[in-house]
Amino acid sequence: MLEDPPAKVTLGHLARAERMCARRLKLEHGNTRANWTSNGRWRVSNRVTEEVRLAHTDLAAPRADRFDGAARDLTTEQLAVYELATRWYVTLFTRPVRVVDEDQWGTDLPGDLRLVGRAGLAFTDADDRPEIRLLSFGSPPAAPIALIETPAVRFAMLRRVEWLHGRSVRVAVADLVRGTFDEDTIDTSAVMPGIDEWLQTRLDVIRDRVANPVPKPGLECAWCPYIAGCEAHR
Ligand code: SF4
Repeated sequence: MLEDPPAKVTLGHLARAERMCARRLKLEHGNTRANWTSNGRWRVSNRVTEEVRLAHTDLAAPRADRFDGAARDLTTEQLAVYELATRWYVTLFTRPVRVVDEDQWGTDLPGDLRLVGRAGLAFTDADDRPEIRLLSFGSPPAAPIALIETPAVRFAMLRRVEWLHGRSVRVAVADLVRGTFDEDTIDTSAVMPGIDEWLQTRLDVIRDRVANPVPKPGLECAWCPYIAGCEAHR
C-alpha cells in the first residue's frame, strides 16, 4: 500500500492562509485529488523559465539569440509575451551563471510536511557563489518592502536551506513583462532563524484554518479544483 504523502504547504498557503477559502486550503494541504485543470495559464511562463534554465546549462551570460525560435508552437499572443519576457531577461540579467540541478518541486520539512512549488531558479557564478532568480510575468506591483520580508523570497530560501548552508546568497526578483528588477545579497546564517520563526507562525495559521474548513465562496472559486462537491455551490 502506498504511504500518504506529507501534507503540502505552498507559497500561496504561507502568504495567504487567513484570506483563502478554508475548505480549499484543507483539501490542498491534505493532497486531496482534484479535478484536472489546464496549465494554459502558465504555458508562457513555464516555457520562458525552462529556456532560461537551458540557457545556463554552462556558465554563461544569457544572449538574445539563445531564445530565437525556441517557442514556435506558441500562439501569436503567447509568442509576443515570450519575446517580451526573454528580451527583458537578457537586459536585466547580464552576469554569467550556471544553473543548479535541483528538485524543482518540493522540499521536506520536519513534522511530515513538504514545501511544494517552484521557487525560482538557483545558480552559481564563476566563483561558485549562490544566486537565486525569481521570475514573474505580469504580477501586480510588489509592495515597497525589503526582499527578505517577502514570502516569495523566504519560501525560495526555505526550499534551498541545505544547499545554501549558511552562505550569503544573491537574490534577484524580476517581472519579465513589466520590466521591474530588485536585487539584494542576503546572509542566510543571519536571517534563517527569523525565517524559521516566521514559518512556524504561518504553519500555525494554516493549522487553525484547516481545523475549521468552512467554504468561503468568492473569486477563487473560478479556478478552484475542488468546486465539484463543494457545499457552497449546491
Ligand atoms: S469552490 Fe469556492 S467555496 Fe468551494 S472549496 Fe473552492 S474556493 Fe472554496
